[in-house]
Parts: sequence; structure tokens; C-alpha cells
Amino acid sequence: MSTYLSIDQCRNITAQAYVGGLPICYRDGNVSPQFVQTVLDALSLLPEQLLQIIAERQFILILSGILSDVHPEQKYQKPRGHSQHGKGDDINGLCCASLRHIHLTEFTTRHKAMDTAETLRHELGHALDYSVGAYLGLGYRDVSLNYDFNQVHLADVTLMGSHAKQVLTYYIQNCSLAGRSEAFAEATASLFGGGCQDAEYFWRHFPNVVAWVESNILNVLGIPTRGDF
Ligand SMILES: [Zn+2]
Repeated sequence: MSTYLSIDQCRNITAQAYVGGLPICYRDGNVSPQFVQTVLDALSLLPEQLLQIIAERQFILILSGILSDVHPEQKYQKPRGHSQHGKGDDINGLCCASLRHIHLTEFTTRHKAMDTAETLRHELGHALDYSVGAYLGLGYRDVSLNYDFNQVHLADVTLMGSHAKQVLTYYIQNCSLAGRSEAFAEATASLFGGGCQDAEYFWRHFPNVVAWVESNILNVLGIPTRGDF
């Protein structure tokens, strides 16, 4: 029997836990109890207001073995911003905003995922990006599409040295929409303990982006940051 879960089945998985109102969905046997505990521990360290806002937008967090367990079509698809040889099963997190799914996987193609908490914080940043535009009256689906955010992103990229540009290329992606979306997600993660990059390195090279997300989004929403929660 196939272990694949269709998109509809994802929605039909009964939530096994809720943290800050966010449903945590998985099937016993698909993931180890240790992996579930790692996720629950990471969620418990985040401000509840952050999870509540995402939950109100009806996101669910889905845990699986590898990504193609739940998204078979991703198996051979190149993830955004990855090298041309990248495959869906090489990544251990994904935020699918249109479906309001956040995915975290225990394994990638080659090994056990080592950075579950960091990936979780980054993917929650994407979910927040999608959740708060209408909430704040910005009139956009994603806050990272907002004109002011684009200006601060451009300001940081303009000042960035060539080495930092190489290290942070994922958050630039030729200043495309994808780059700005990744920078928003990572800036959010960096304010809650760090995402896929070292938080201090990210702050140093994206000072305007981080300050903008903190003062225009998180402070406005009353979400404590930088460990004040
Ligand atoms: Zn991302």
C-alpha cells in the first residue's frame, strides 16, 4: 500500500497536538516519536501570538518522513533557489501558502534532517508573510510583495559586499520576488532564535530588512522578539 498522502488526505489527518492553536498533523509510523518531540520542543520556545496568527489563517503543520511522502510531485522538482541538481526530497521544509500547509520532514534524500528547529522557524516566517498582509491592511497577499519592504531589501543588497552576496545568495536571487520572500522568512526566523543562516550574520548584512520586519510587522502585532518571550 502506498504511503503517499494526497493533499486532501493531509487536510483529513486528525491533528495529534495543537501548539498556540496550530494543528500538528502526522500519522503514527510515518515519523519517529523523537522527531515529533523535537518539533514540539521548538514550537514551545516560540511566542504563542506568532503561532496563533498563523493558526487563525488556517495553516496546519504536517510532519512526514520525506517530502514526497506527502507531495509525490515534488520528488524530482527543483526547489526554488536550489542548484539545478536539487530535488524536492533534498529539502526538509516547505511552506505551501496557497494550501496553507507547512511541511517538515524527518529525512531528506540522503540523511536525517539536522536542522529541524531552524527550518521550522524559517517556514513559519513564510506562513507569517502570507498571513498578515490583509490583517495589517497592507492589501497584499504576501507582505514581502509590499513596496516598502522591497525598498529596504534593495537598500541592504546594494550595501552588501561581494562575499556576503555569495553567502546570502538564497535571499537575493537576483532581487526577484523569490529572494525577497526568502529574506522575509529568514528575517522572521532570525528574530526567534535563528533560521537557516547564523542569525547575527544575517542581521549584519540585512539590517534594514530585519528592522523593518521587527518594527512594522512583529511589534505592530504585539509579538515579542529577540528572546523576550
Ligand atoms: Zn524559504
